[in-house]
Amino acid sequence: MTLDVETRAGNTRSAYRGRFAPSPTGPLHLGSLLAAIGSWMMARHADGEWLVRIEDVDTPRCVEGIAEQQLRTLAAFGLESDLPVLRQSHRQDIYRSALQTLLDQNAAFPCRCSRNDLRDEGNIHRKCLEHPSGHTAAVRLRVPDGLTITIEDRIHGTFVQQLDTEVGDFVLFRADGLWAYQLAVVVDDAAQQITHVVRGADLLDSAPRQRYLQQILAVPQTEYAHLPLVLDVDGHKLSKSSLATPVTESDPLPAMNVVWRLLGQVEPIVARNPNRWLQEALRSFEPNRIPRSELRPSGPVNSQGE
Ligand code: GLU
Repeated sequence: MTLDVETRAGNTRSAYRGRFAPSPTGPLHLGSLLAAIGSWMMARHADGEWLVRIEDVDTPRCVEGIAEQQLRTLAAFGLESDLPVLRQSHRQDIYRSALQTLLDQNAAFPCRCSRNDLRDEGNIHRKCLEHPSGHTAAVRLRVPDGLTITIEDRIHGTFVQQLDTEVGDFVLFRADGLWAYQLAVVVDDAAQQITHVVRGADLLDSAPRQRYLQQILAVPQTEYAHLPLVLDVDGHKLSKSSLATPVTESDPLPAMNVVWRLLGQVEPIVARNPNRWLQEALRSFEPNRIPRSELRPSGPVNSQGE
């Protein structure tokens, strides 16, 4: 299928284009900063480009004004998108046309089975119930029997998922009228010509769904690297919507040094400002040092770092 492709200066396609794609559900915290700096480092280390995309399709979870705040925070850390920032909320038409392509191919189908209906099935959809209880239809992608998808993750190695039994037919368009993350992310990564997806390890188990959608939509397949998650003192993943302490814009360097150590990097970085810090850090960045396991920063996780 044809997706609208971002035009960019020079018009030569870079061999590596990465991205950071926050949902505007709360201010950026240390875990988001790790994903932002980690994806930026991997991109620049490969002489590639780095884009920012605001993933605001799940409108009830988005908080007014937070996207702008996230972009300000990124700028305070010296992190700016190489192309204009894309917002998913402006892209209804392109998602609709991708969905129509899948419906026309009979790769997707309307479904009124509610989450409750699927409880006995472990929330895995394999075929529609005769009397589904959902009033409005969602649209699901049909997952063939026996489909196994293997991802070679740069950090986690081989990740295999049996898509039919572990995930089932998955939702592309929700019964509440919203676009599902899985469809929006694949359509936008393709439209923005993203080659490498570097993000938190909580999304590793989404990667096979996204790879399969890429195959079905006949768009280029992205490479994956899933960065370790940062946990709070109780061992929970930091999350924007659960009000994890935001990173402070006024004093970025201590947080950058914390992230640097969490990324497994050992060379201390001495720099006067975030832009210099990024350049210095890039010189000694070693992707192979990034750890696989979850991270518990010693001391407060609020980025002050001491
Ligand atoms: N929007 C997602 C988040 O904020 C990230 C999605 C992705 O990187 O694929 O967690």
